Amino acid sequence: MEVQINSLEMGEEFKICPSCGYKDGFHSMLKKEGGKVKWMFICPSCHEVFDIGYRIEDFHNG
Ligand SMILES: [Zn+2]
Repeated sequence: MEVQINSLEMGEEFKICPSCGYKDGFHSMLKKEGGKVKWMFICPSCHEVFDIGYRIEDFHNG
């Protein structure tokens, strides 16, 4: 099942869910894509997934 990902730009901080207003921060998830790892955030309240542009090098993949 493909997860719906909401792309957005981060302002001063990313703490309040833009979707439901939950204000205590996020769970995180990682997803491999094209030699990079996307670092995304999941709202614990409404379970929306947010991509604010964080990328990690995938050191285990050459
Ligand atoms: Zn939410």
